[in-house]
Amino acid sequence: MAAVSVLTNGGGSLDVSEEQIAELQRVLRGDLLVDGDAGYEEGRSVWNGMIDKRPALIAMCEGTSDVVAMVKLASAHDLVLSVRGGGHNASGIATNDGGLIINLTRMNGVHVDTANRTARAEGGCVWSDVDKETLLHGLATTGGTVTNTGIAGLTLGGGLGWAMAEHGITADNLLSADLVTATGEVVTASESQNQDLLWGLRGGGGNFGVVTSFEYRLHEQGNVYGGLLLYPRAMAREVMKFYAEFTSDLPDNLTVFCGLLSSPEGDPMIALIIGYFGDIADGEVAVKPMRDFAEPAADMVGEIPYTVLQSFFDENAAPHGTRRYWKSGYIPELTDEFIDIVVEKAESMTAPKSAVVLFHMHGEATRVAADATAFSMRDNVYDFDVISQWDDASEDDHWRDWTRDYWESVEKFAAEISYINHLMTDDVERVRPSFGPNYGRLVELKRTWDPNNLFRLNPNINPA
Ligand SMILES: Cc1cc2nc3c(=O)[nH]c(=O)nc-3n(C[C@H](O)[C@H](O)[C@H](O)COP(=O)(O)OP(=O)(O)OC[C@H]3O[C@@H](n4cnc5c(N)ncnc54)[C@H](O)[C@@H]3O)c2cc1C
Repeated sequence: MAAVSVLTNGGGSLDVSEEQIAELQRVLRGDLLVDGDAGYEEGRSVWNGMIDKRPALIAMCEGTSDVVAMVKLASAHDLVLSVRGGGHNASGIATNDGGLIINLTRMNGVHVDTANRTARAEGGCVWSDVDKETLLHGLATTGGTVTNTGIAGLTLGGGLGWAMAEHGITADNLLSADLVTATGEVVTASESQNQDLLWGLRGGGGNFGVVTSFEYRLHEQGNVYGGLLLYPRAMAREVMKFYAEFTSDLPDNLTVFCGLLSSPEGDPMIALIIGYFGDIADGEVAVKPMRDFAEPAADMVGEIPYTVLQSFFDENAAPHGTRRYWKSGYIPELTDEFIDIVVEKAESMTAPKSAVVLFHMHGEATRVAADATAFSMRDNVYDFDVISQWDDASEDDHWRDWTRDYWESVEKFAAEISYINHLMTDDVERVRPSFGPNYGRLVELKRTWDPNNLFRLNPNINPA
């Protein structure tokens, strides 16, 4: 194991000798990796293939004591620090060049308490880890729509998923969290301990510490009535107008997303993506207006296990290493003008893995007061995402510029608040407005828990 220089936030560096690395390694249950070690390449990689960063040190943590040791090291020397949960954030901030990564992927245990209907999941879990364990008992919480997205980043930023209209966003189902603070202290945030911190963790992102475990409220979860109705792209305007009207008044147990995407054969399509939670026969009735409005090219809606609904987007959205750039915002109203622009701009979306998706927020997710949690978007809105995905590095500039141009043409329809989990690193000026009226309270919380801004590789709340 070679000596390394680790970057500090001030622009300097800390030299760590071979002996010091060996000393640190003796303290850890997991592994401390430097460039060239087995596991280094995997430890530094994130989901977005465009991100190719080489940290000086990677700590593959295996328990809270490992996290404490690494936070103390980072804090003592003000090291550039990334915290990696699932590594899914498209901006790639879970890795860095020249600094330290606290990598939690080995911390993926889940314990289900069936009597209390809660689950405790470690900070390195992805959604399939949690779903598999809770569904064994017919239970689930609101999770992400792709199975290999990390629970940590998703929960801390808010968490939009199929069950949010019935049970609230993921952060609303977060009962408590154990975290390692900037001083290396281990604390619990819950309704009875450090309540303010729990408020901040429900949407304030990774600003306050490294969460080693999350406790979620669970709900009964059986099969759902769901799937895709696919229409040719030529019908996109018609389908989106229908979608706008149909989703203006939906029961909590019916959620419909809409996506301009390509069929497996590469044909441009538009899809209504449906999840009905409840009696299957009632689901058929609820979905009927969608079936009646126009003949779909393919009808793939029926009774399915919740895990199938949860993995609909996996194939197109999930492969690690896909190059990716996206822009996102909340759209309060799908006006005809907005729809016209969205459909027209999508005509040049020729990369088959790319998509433009609308995730509709309604029901319980919108009944929580804007200041009740750090996540302040509680209106009936559509989370709108222009998701560019391609494999060839020579196309990077083209698709980045294309996505920016697309976004600029629709930005005027978006709310001031954006979803922090969908911001890219070039969206820095959108971070502060994204916290809406909660920004001031978040700054106070940041001053209490991380006054030196050790945790800054995130949609950052600057304590200064
Ligand atoms: C294919 C895909 C599908 C997605 N689907 C959804 C969806 O359905 N719903 C939704 O709401 N979002 C979705 N997202 C966005 C997702 O919520 C964010 O990308 C989120 O950051 C992913 O969490 P992660 O743990 O994988 O992140 P990582 O990339 O590992 O980390 C991102 C940031 O989160 C923080 N963080 C991570 N782990 C910890 C921890 N243990 N403690 C403290 N801070 C931590 C850090 O600040 C880190 O920089 C999706 C993203 C992708 C790429």
